[in-house]
Amino acid sequence: MPNTKVYFFPFFIFTLMLSLTYFAPNSYANSNIPSISRIDGANLYETSALISSTGWNRSETVIIARGDRFSDALAGVPLSSKYDAPLLLSRSNRLDPFTRQEIQRLRAKNVIILGGHLAIEDRVEKEIKQLGVNVERIAGANMFETAQLISERIAPNGSEKAIIVTSDRFEDALSIASYAGSEGIPILLTRRDSLPAQTVNALSDLQVDKTYVIGGELVISEKVYKKIPTKTERIHGATLFHTNIEIINRFNLRTDKTFVTTSNRFPDGLSGGALAVKQGATVVFVGNNIRSVTSNHLKNANYKDVFILGGELAINANVFRSLHSVLGVPQGPLAGRTIMLDPGHGGSDPGAIANGMVEKDLVLDISKRAQKLLEDAGAKVIMTRETDVFVSLPNRAQMANNSDAEIFISVHANSFNGTARGTETFWHGRHERTRSIRLANALQTSVVKNIGTNYRRVVEGNYHVIRETKIPSALLEVGFMDHAGDAAKLRQSKYRQLAAVGILEGVIQYFK
Ligand SMILES: [Zn+2]
Repeated sequence: MPNTKVYFFPFFIFTLMLSLTYFAPNSYANSNIPSISRIDGANLYETSALISSTGWNRSETVIIARGDRFSDALAGVPLSSKYDAPLLLSRSNRLDPFTRQEIQRLRAKNVIILGGHLAIEDRVEKEIKQLGVNVERIAGANMFETAQLISERIAPNGSEKAIIVTSDRFEDALSIASYAGSEGIPILLTRRDSLPAQTVNALSDLQVDKTYVIGGELVISEKVYKKIPTKTERIHGATLFHTNIEIINRFNLRTDKTFVTTSNRFPDGLSGGALAVKQGATVVFVGNNIRSVTSNHLKNANYKDVFILGGELAINANVFRSLHSVLGVPQGPLAGRTIMLDPGHGGSDPGAIANGMVEKDLVLDISKRAQKLLEDAGAKVIMTRETDVFVSLPNRAQMANNSDAEIFISVHANSFNGTARGTETFWHGRHERTRSIRLANALQTSVVKNIGTNYRRVVEGNYHVIRETKIPSALLEVGFMDHAGDAAKLRQSKYRQLAAVGILEGVIQYFK
């Protein structure tokens, strides 16, 4: 230990300088790191219900589309915006319990079913009516007509603008849905090589002046593009992911919120699209990986809240990890935690010296290993020192008290009479007594478990840094440098690493 020396004037000046250097990093805190949350149900019906409950406490109207086929629903998101209604998914032949529960929770009075009696059977309609809810269908002879009928609802007095997307690809419709919904612009559908009569009729009935055509010639041919009887603008990129980002840029949709959804399955994005409109958010598509066009957008858009729609089936673990790394969000059991590590001694104060080891070097080594492990586990780590410099005890405590750290861990190694051995951890009862005791016990147990030292004791110790530190704190004495058995271990980097693992596991245990 030797932990309570008296230091002289020149050191005071030096530590003052150090304190300034060390306080600076604490001011940046975590303010620029976005939050990432996953909305993930047991199945797509629950996910759509969870997405609904994220946005709506109650809703008079609910829109329902079939969960395993997107064609009828493509034009539906702007409709959900018109009625401020969530979009739920249904099985075609029965009402899923999650869907039923959500209709009831919302205390809905009206349900609008998108699609005909084959898409969503009469039985479902009947089950909804039994909940005391009015049911209405918007169903054309085909999906083009359904989109036309929806457009009449969205813009009963006509619309200066319209959007045309392919009926083959849901991503384009969902990419533009947030913009369409917020502006009240109908979405109409086309085949790649022929413009359906229903879409032409809709453009004429709505008296559209300008049409945005979403996607390149591979999805909507030039022939179809030229047949559109209004002014046109094509918005497209090399892939659906590029088109997705093009749309966000073209309409300046950047906000502080985005919903990340998969291009592999449509249901999550469909319900998410309705929520994105309500919350003025963007929808960003990913596949089995994140394209660079997408990661560049995510890096530069400064989103504050990122919602991942769907579970592992939708967004796999690899993409989930990549999203965290692209957005600079730490991930792991200690994500969001801030920990202060205090390697004892340093500079002119070597601490104990025994068996060719110097305490200040030994504990700095262990602390830096622990720092790396803690950071890998998602924590932000503040060090009282990272090099062989002297930092006074009051300064260390002050750094902790001025930081946003949640716990303070001082790392030391012992020296006594050559026979004392093992690991011991001290706490002090002046501040945060209960938590400090818990922290000391967690560290002691896991360090002993990892390096196999003798469990010496966990007791109160009157040491400056843990007495003056206002956050929960503990002082760990890893082992006795002057005990042959302990020294044999502490000399090996393998055991110093194990000590660091012990600190990591102790911290994880403490926060559990
Ligand atoms: Zn010490």
